[in-house]
Amino acid sequence: MKPAVKRIVAMPVLLFYFAVLSQTTQIKIRQYCQANQAELIEEYREFLSIPNMAADSLNIRHNADFIKQMMEKRGIRAELLFGKSSGTNPAVFGEIKVKDAKHTIALYAHYDGQPVNPKQWSEGLSPFNPVFITAPLERGGTIINYTKGDPINPSWRISGRSSADDKAGVMAIINAYDALVKTKVTLNNNIIFFFEGEEEEGSTHIGEIFEQYKSKLNSDIFIIIDGPRHVTGKKMVSFGVRGDVNMYLTVYGPKRPLHSGNYGNWAPNPALNLVQLLAGMKDEKGNVLIDGFYDDVVPLSASEKEAIAKVPGIEETLKKELGIQQPDGEGKPFLELLSLPTLNINGIQSGNVGSMASNQIPTKAEAVLDLRLVKGNDGERQMQKVIHYIESKGYHVIDKDPVDEERLQYARLIKITHGTGYNAQRTPMDLPIAKSVVQAVQSTIDYPLVLIPSSGGSLPLIVFEQKLNAKVLSIPIVNYDNNQHAENENLQISFLWEGIETIAAVMTMQ
Ligand SMILES: [Zn+2]
Repeated sequence: MKPAVKRIVAMPVLLFYFAVLSQTTQIKIRQYCQANQAELIEEYREFLSIPNMAADSLNIRHNADFIKQMMEKRGIRAELLFGKSSGTNPAVFGEIKVKDAKHTIALYAHYDGQPVNPKQWSEGLSPFNPVFITAPLERGGTIINYTKGDPINPSWRISGRSSADDKAGVMAIINAYDALVKTKVTLNNNIIFFFEGEEEEGSTHIGEIFEQYKSKLNSDIFIIIDGPRHVTGKKMVSFGVRGDVNMYLTVYGPKRPLHSGNYGNWAPNPALNLVQLLAGMKDEKGNVLIDGFYDDVVPLSASEKEAIAKVPGIEETLKKELGIQQPDGEGKPFLELLSLPTLNINGIQSGNVGSMASNQIPTKAEAVLDLRLVKGNDGERQMQKVIHYIESKGYHVIDKDPVDEERLQYARLIKITHGTGYNAQRTPMDLPIAKSVVQAVQSTIDYPLVLIPSSGGSLPLIVFEQKLNAKVLSIPIVNYDNNQHAENENLQISFLWEGIETIAAVMTMQ
């Protein structure tokens, strides 16, 4: 009896103590951000002004140097890590070691961004000239005439390429550390900083960099700060991502475009052949009909299913927002569908439409397929299933444009090539270190944190597992309506401040 009674009394006291402790830290961090907002935002605007397309190696280097300086200014020893191959964009690395560290926590963000077309941005906005807006311009927002030192309303947004994806991550990580130091919070964990410069290009060399600097990057947990918080605006921890691979299909028709009257009914039409082939791959409810397509899927565990059941439903909001009357998936919950592999047509092209349309039988028809992969899937194996299906429909598969002999030998010819992809990654939800992270993030909010076994999107997090033997979690911090990858990308300022608080809580977790 005695120990039990003691525990009942001690537990709430202990929990109360930790809650108060972390709240004090959180308040300190919040006050620090408020007091220093003008400088922080000024630095962020400068950072956002440097173009950051992964292919633009000169500017990528400027970005990397800028981050290194931001880190050094805050007392973080920083260096640039290059892969062995020529032409790798550097990752920016830094570390803080403390005495008697409880954990070593690695934090990841990427500083490169998607390509931009400035013409597509609204008037007054441009990708690398960040300005404040009251709300997205397409939703009635206006540009704010801001001068440094003016009070910054946290509901404002800063617009610019990578303001959300993912320079926000870099800013939040560096400043969370700085805020802890400046507010004299004792650090109890080692911290590793890792900022990638090639994420939007598919993280081509991250594996190489990991191999080369494995010992530097040894951590108890690797935390990815990238992507938006839950659609409801709630904070979120995600335990996995889907993998992804693209397939490129070309079906061939006559060697030259033909008059559709002179040859119609005689010359086979590649556009029709391709759409027939693709249409057979799925039923009307969106289920993939390819043999064995779902066979390798590792089913969700009990705790993963439980977590999904607690996530607020967003289907009705999404249907309205996106104008969808009947979603695919036969009424299965959104997150359950995101835990399955996909077969998506990214694009399809043949002949011409619009003002270029002509009465012709085109020479070829092309499609790009996107296969999202979940735990258990292997990209190569998944593509083989699609290829087997295509062969079963009478197609001869080649990997180059056909020569004349092939055209005459086979009635149905298809060229299939594929991109470099990667498999899915999923961290078990009951892993002790993962639970500590969840507790730390939960301590910064007064509503239940959203926990997602796997997000729908893809990041090569499997490489972290394979090359570094790392445990990986994602804590997205930016607003979900941030237009990432598109024109008018923006970050709502309150999300940056809250992101800094979240990361500071993780950096000081027990
Ligand atoms: Zn990103």
